Amino acid sequence: MEGANALTFMLSWVSHTDVQDRDYKFLRKAVEEVYEGVECGDGGPFGAVVVQNDQVVVSCHSMVLKNTDPTAHAEVTAIREACKKLKQTELSDCEMYASCEPCPMCFGAIHLSRIKRLVYGAKAEAAIAVGFGDFSADASRGTGFYQKAQLDIKRADSCRTGL
Ligand SMILES: [Zn+2]
Repeated sequence: MEGANALTFMLSWVSHTDVQDRDYKFLRKAVEEVYEGVECGDGGPFGAVVVQNDQVVVSCHSMVLKNTDPTAHAEVTAIREACKKLKQTELSDCEMYASCEPCPMCFGAIHLSRIKRLVYGAKAEAAIAVGFGDFSADASRGTGFYQKAQLDIKRADSCRTGL
């Protein structure tokens, strides 16, 4: 996918009032990672940030191409890096901000890491619209399951990130 498409992808967010201003601050950071990842050619246009006590622990983007690893999605990479940095296998006191609705694998990782809250920007459908396969997006429609599992999930869906 080209950078211009990634930009359109992120700008497709519409205003949503359900997400707090602090959420936008961290979402913006996740979107910055999108641009960095695309620029470096590390992977697709996806970014994820792990936040603990209002501080960014790690800020990552997809490393699928760089690591030739189909599981190196931004969210999984962020969880791995955050756990390493915090020297713990649970992130129950952390929140995740993802540029796009996580795929099933990432939801699984988020679930296992016990991250307490997830805020994401674009819907998975937006990724399909700009050329990403729908097989991962299809399965990510099961977010209700994770919401039941005590994970607070919010869709930010806004252009208020200022990009
Ligand atoms: Zn994923």
